Amino acid sequence: VVGRYGGDEFVILLYGTREAGLVEQTLDNLRASISAPLTVFDAALQIDASMGVASYPQDGTDTETLLRNADTALYRAKSEGRNRVRRFEPALARASAERLSLAGRLRSALQRQEFELFYQPKVSVRANCVVGVEALLRWRDPCRGIVGPSEFVPHAEDSGLIVPIGEWVIDQACRQARQLFRGFPGLSVSVNVSPVQFARTDLPETIARAVRCSGLRPELLEIEITEGALMDPSTLPLLHALRKIGVCVAIDDFGVGYSSLAYIRSFMADTLKIDMSFVRGIGQSPRDEAIVKAILGLGHTLGMKVVAEGVETVMQRDFLMQHGCDEIQGYLYARPVSGTDICEVITSLNADMMSAHEVRG
Ligand code: C2E
Ligand code: MG
Ligand code: MG
Repeated sequence: VVGRYGGDEFVILLYGTREAGLVEQTLDNLRASISAPLTVFDAALQIDASMGVASYPQDGTDTETLLRNADTALYRAKSEGRNRVRRFEPALARASAERLSLAGRLRSALQRQEFELFYQPKVSVRANCVVGVEALLRWRDPCRGIVGPSEFVPHAEDSGLIVPIGEWVIDQACRQARQLFRGFPGLSVSVNVSPVQFARTDLPETIARAVRCSGLRPELLEIEITEGALMDPSTLPLLHALRKIGVCVAIDDFGVGYSSLAYIRSFMADTLKIDMSFVRGIGQSPRDEAIVKAILGLGHTLGMKVVAEGVETVMQRDFLMQHGCDEIQGYLYARPVSGTDICEVITSLNADMMSAHEVRG
């Protein structure tokens, strides 16, 4: 029995398949016929199918449980890269329950205003002072204290909650840029956005509104997009829309995301941020050093500013300065700090750099 369950989801009932390997065999045949190319108006199209399997009686003895468990297995098949078959196991159900509970907690975190932006300074090599900050999301979880984004952003992306959370981030960064950084004219604020945000919402509209409502000069806002996310062809119109608003665009974690040079040529970002993993290799791996120099050369030749993040040692900084890196961000100067502390951190960094400069001079 084959039935359409909703949208692009189908349910298949297979009877009498207790014999070992028969289910896999049947599903493989099915997947092969689904993915056979179709010709539509001279174009060859191919459809992939992901499948989740739950078996009676071991995975459930009623319809609801069997469907839920098959859906859990399907979710796993999709997250493992799609176009594959995954059988249900109890461990998947536990992971799914944890995901649901985290999604619930994130939703209430948004309502209870438990999110907060931390800021990390970026230092200009030429101007020898702080010229910008990157806004980094934190969750003040009442049970666990401050939680970093790598622990919850992937779940927020899965559940779609990254959309309202990301909107809050953009609004808050624009508002705080105007309120907190009044004493630092020209200081830019960078905000990270997730590819899910451009797929699901009108991101340019959200950004344009936040800029308008806050009164921030658009060129002082920089949107950071990871190199991996740029690969999707749908991002190109988005990038042009951002350009129209007048905000800057940075390609984050550059060097690890498989983007093509042709793509980089077709959209010129303002900034390239060298992935931290290469910065870490400075002084240790000649290959990493060669890659850092190559990224600096590529960025500068194409007229982009190049920023190094994750700079922790004087040796890394000196290497980067010597090879013409424009801006430096990392624990060497400052860790990300709360909105309450960031101005003091910037002021003291600027004073330190000024006096070091005078001593050298
Ligand atoms: P990212 O945008 O590449 O941010 C840099 C990360 O490196 C930050 O981690 C920062 O705290 C850390 N970092 C900075 N300097 C150093 C250093 O010298 N050494 C080391 N070891 N680490 C350093 P964080 O805050 O945990 O953020 C991790 C990632 O989460 C970010 O990587 C970004 O991709 C994502 N993220 C942060 N905030 C947001 C947000 O508001 N929205 C979205 N969608 N993603 C966010
Ligand atoms: Mg970033
Ligand atoms: Mg990065």
